[in-house]
Amino acid sequence: LNQHLKLHDEERENFNSNTLEIKQQLRDTEAQVEYYKKELAKQQFRSLQDNLTKLPNRSAFEERLNLEFERWVKGETQLTIAVIDVDHFKNINDNFGHIAGDKTLQVIAGTLSKALKESGFVCRYGGEEFAIIFCSDDREAYQHIENARGKVATIPFKFKSEDIRITISAGIAKCQYNEDTPLAVFERADKALYNAKNSGRNKVMKAK
Ligand code: GH3
Ligand code: MG
Ligand code: MG
Repeated sequence: LNQHLKLHDEERENFNSNTLEIKQQLRDTEAQVEYYKKELAKQQFRSLQDNLTKLPNRSAFEERLNLEFERWVKGETQLTIAVIDVDHFKNINDNFGHIAGDKTLQVIAGTLSKALKESGFVCRYGGEEFAIIFCSDDREAYQHIENARGKVATIPFKFKSEDIRITISAGIAKCQYNEDTPLAVFERADKALYNAKNSGRNKVMKAK
């Protein structure tokens, strides 16, 4: 009987130590899962952020636009898009180099973000182009973009001790037709931007 009890005790000790080991492994695995969850969230955030300007990127713009468009279809919100393009930006690169061009884009992005963050969703669409989503009508959006245009035009840039002013042009279009799609509204805003460029730049124009 003693021998049997001893064997039983040994077995129980083994079992206890195995259980402790498994519990520790489980804690390690849980910590790993937590770590990868955080990494995934960081990665997801990075995939929606433009690296140079730290603004939401084009993917973030499209994601948000589709979301707001669904709300507009249901009649829950108004929806206006603005497309902004920096005027004669190529000259900055050509005359002062790409690094100066990059810094210029960062400063313009910061100015747009500060001027528009209360009223719209500001993104770097690509290159020297920015796109903004407003949950308001085009008249209100126009006021905000016009204000931002004025702010950019007065930034005192200095390159190689040369004082430079940089301007932006913008086109604005609102969702208004039954058959509207996000793409159709974007195209109208883009066309208005083209008109702003053709009528002298440093201008904001509404789509007809
Ligand atoms: P416009 O007034 O007609 O818009 O003239 P523009 O010179 O701005 O137009 P264009 O499209 O010819 O030039 C855009 C330039 O923007 C060309 C490209 O090299 C530059 N660019 C785009 N992305 C970046 C960037 O991330 N960094 C820098 N430094 N330049 C960029
Ligand atoms: Mg451009
Ligand atoms: Mg340009």
